[in-house]
Amino acid sequence: MFLGIFTAVTIVLLWLSQNVFLSDIYKSIKIREIKTAYHKIEEAVDEGTVSENAYKIANEYNVCIIVLSKGGKFSTVSEDVLPNCIIHNTNTAGLMYIFSRAQNAPDGIVYYTRSPQSGYAYQSDESSGDSEQSIVLSGEYLTENDSAIIFLNSVISPVSATVNTLNTILIYITVALIILSVILALVMSQIISKPIVSLTRSAKRLAEGDYNEKFTGGGYFEADALASTLNYAESELSKLDKLQKELVANISHDLRTPLTMITGYSEMMRDIPGENTPENLQVVIDETARLTSLVNDVLDISKIQSGTQTFEKKRVCITDIAENAMIRYAKLMTGGYDISFEHGEERHFIIGDETRVLQVIYNLVNNAVTYTGEDKKVRVTEEVKDGFVRLSVTDTGDGIPEDKLPYIWERYYKVDEAHKRSAVGTGLGLSIVRGIMDEHGGRYGVVSSHGNGSTFWVEFPISPED
Ligand code: ADP
Repeated sequence: MFLGIFTAVTIVLLWLSQNVFLSDIYKSIKIREIKTAYHKIEEAVDEGTVSENAYKIANEYNVCIIVLSKGGKFSTVSEDVLPNCIIHNTNTAGLMYIFSRAQNAPDGIVYYTRSPQSGYAYQSDESSGDSEQSIVLSGEYLTENDSAIIFLNSVISPVSATVNTLNTILIYITVALIILSVILALVMSQIISKPIVSLTRSAKRLAEGDYNEKFTGGGYFEADALASTLNYAESELSKLDKLQKELVANISHDLRTPLTMITGYSEMMRDIPGENTPENLQVVIDETARLTSLVNDVLDISKIQSGTQTFEKKRVCITDIAENAMIRYAKLMTGGYDISFEHGEERHFIIGDETRVLQVIYNLVNNAVTYTGEDKKVRVTEEVKDGFVRLSVTDTGDGIPEDKLPYIWERYYKVDEAHKRSAVGTGLGLSIVRGIMDEHGGRYGVVSSHGNGSTFWVEFPISPED
């Protein structure tokens, strides 16, 4: 349709320029030429070189020239360059008549038309129809002690013959353009629509849950770009789908273990006299705590990711928060763990939600405790760098393979499914850390290599002193 409109507009423009504007444009070019030639003659009169230059100017602008001196000092007649010139075919009286007419005409230009039958020239107005027309520009130019009367004659040939020829050509061009635009339209729509049809088919299959569908573009850049975006979206969707399936499996496993323990111990305490001991009760309490933290993790991550989690930010001392967190690990220390917190003399403040900042530290230290090596060492350090306060948690465990590093911050991701300790977590801890750090305008990262332990770090912007 657009090609059709384009073709129609092109043809209309061509037709207009040929039939309506061609003769006007041709006439205005001729008038401009004759005026330029007139100025050149004036300059030559000034310099006294009319006789030498008249011939050259006449040929350059295709005009006939006559220059008469009023005082009779000179008279120059150019060669008769035009076959049907008016001024060369009249006498001095005739010229004077033309001059007097030109005095009253706009721009000093008078028009003559030659009759095609008799060859006789008569005065006419500007539009002469189909006959050949002469335009004569005449004026008086005053020099210091004389004055020159200048006559220039140019011929405007009728353009109707040319227009007829051009119109015939235009008919051929129109037919050619229409055929070409139909062919082009068909080819282009084929090229454009073919990849889109195939992409749509693949997208339908993806919507039905087939994650192995391969999107192919083909033909042009945009279709290729769309295909690669869809392939990327598909791989992300399939990853998420896989992770979610794993989470359901993990969570049901993780929920079932403490629930079985709680049910078992409770029934035992109810049915067997003497089993109602504080130790057994402690098992029930511990398993309930494990269940609670699991459920809390799942709730936290879904709240952070949906943006419904509210953060109560105020100026808090991060050094205090980290120290308080260490108190929680006091019991672990007695169990052989060596957890240290190293920090400078100065205490540092940040703008943040205390509970959430504490959660970041817990999640990192919990992971370090879970994955640290035989020596059971975990080192927490605090330092200041470029306006940020950095907390680093270092363990001596197996570390994380380099190719797995970019994924550990994703939801439900666990490095080693078969690892004996992987049952401990849900794969949500680090993505909760990421969500909280993003909300605090902080940065986070990990330095780790397989076999050399890991250092997880977080950085909060330091709050300026009050
Ligand atoms: P999880 O609850 O499973 O620990 P996280 O999101 O906290 O989930 O961690 C994601 C994965 O990153 C973990 O399953 C583990 O494989 C790896 N990981 C996290 N911290 C450490 C660490 N300190 N040392 C080795 N691996 C770690």
